[in-house]
Amino acid sequence: MTTFRNPDEHGYYGEFGGAFVPEMLYPNVAELQEKYLQIMGSDYFIKEYRALLKDYVGRATPLYFAKNLSEKFKTNIYLKREDLNHTGAHKINNALGQALLAKKLGKNRIIAETGAGQHGVATATACALLGLECIVYMGEVDIARQAPNVARMKMLGATVIPATSGSKTLKDAVNEALRDWINNSTTTHYIIGSVVGPHPFPDMVARFQSIISEEIKWQLNEKIGRENPDFVIACVGGGSNAAGTFYHFVDEPAVHIIAVEAGGFGIDSGKSAATTFLGTVGVLHGSKSIVMQTGDGQVIEPHSISAGLDYPGIGPFHANLFAQKRAEFFSINDDDALKSAFELTKLEGIIPALESAHALAVLEKKQFEKDDVVVICLSGRGDKDMEAYLNAQSNL
Ligand SMILES: *Cc1c(COP(=O)(O)O)cnc(C)c1O
Repeated sequence: MTTFRNPDEHGYYGEFGGAFVPEMLYPNVAELQEKYLQIMGSDYFIKEYRALLKDYVGRATPLYFAKNLSEKFKTNIYLKREDLNHTGAHKINNALGQALLAKKLGKNRIIAETGAGQHGVATATACALLGLECIVYMGEVDIARQAPNVARMKMLGATVIPATSGSKTLKDAVNEALRDWINNSTTTHYIIGSVVGPHPFPDMVARFQSIISEEIKWQLNEKIGRENPDFVIACVGGGSNAAGTFYHFVDEPAVHIIAVEAGGFGIDSGKSAATTFLGTVGVLHGSKSIVMQTGDGQVIEPHSISAGLDYPGIGPFHANLFAQKRAEFFSINDDDALKSAFELTKLEGIIPALESAHALAVLEKKQFEKDDVVVICLSGRGDKDMEAYLNAQSNL
């Protein structure tokens, strides 16, 4: 039976995935491949992880029936409130899980990459809690753009190292982190922040984030007496909040899956991050997927107003959903995302992250029936985006 949820033993979702790493990284990746399922499935790990999710992260996050939004769009809209997690987004589910796993592997030094700093903050938080050394690689340009998150990471005890090569942004930070991992393989675990990277990272991260759809199932059952919604919608940067939101529904054919990418200024503008619309099959950061690249395989710089969606690829889980037409993909431009953020704020009193606002904007693009049950992942809160919101407001 084909399943969309998990890759095969070599880490392939259909034709996508695998582990394309330099020989020097084989031992690290092989050790993880060998041990991750066993550790994650062990009673003592589950007990410790679940206890932290509950009392430290604040799970289960509410599944909130958005009455005003539902009235406006004449359907039934539920918001999965990942914005209420400690540190303000879904990323802590993964960072905490991997930090705990690193400890079980006997590794006390953690490295991570970060773009806007959200994953860096989540990782630094988990490391502070668990007493692990934390080094975060971040593009020099991003360090200048994201001063508050850099300050948070430092306050949490992390060392932030600037990536000074290439465009000095996220992809360069990933390269620096991989280099570090090669040099420190016995002491160090690399906490990747999304469902990207060589096998087993996409599967491992999806499993840590799958708590999102696990909760949606019982919460929906509690509220309306059925486990499956008609639609689940989530934004896709690398794809971790989406993988978590879709996880327990992808193999349920009755549930429609909607993945939302960042259109930036528009697909044809040259300033976009809509990977499935603009990308081709290629290898990025250790796995085969869909990548925005030139004819000779150079990565094209993406653009999105939301830092979390500003990535030139998507995880292999999503590439497969796209190739098999299991999910419908939307591209939402900066302007429409901003509009949806203001609309949610006004109607429901919730300021969403700009990333999450892309998922909300699908409500304007697609017609839903009045009996449909639509679940949207509100991946994070908007505190970090106030500057963008202020700029948008003054331009109205
Ligand atoms: C990082 C981030 C994203 C994008 O990352 P995924 O791995 O695609 O989930 C989306 N929303 C928020 C709030 C984020 O911080």
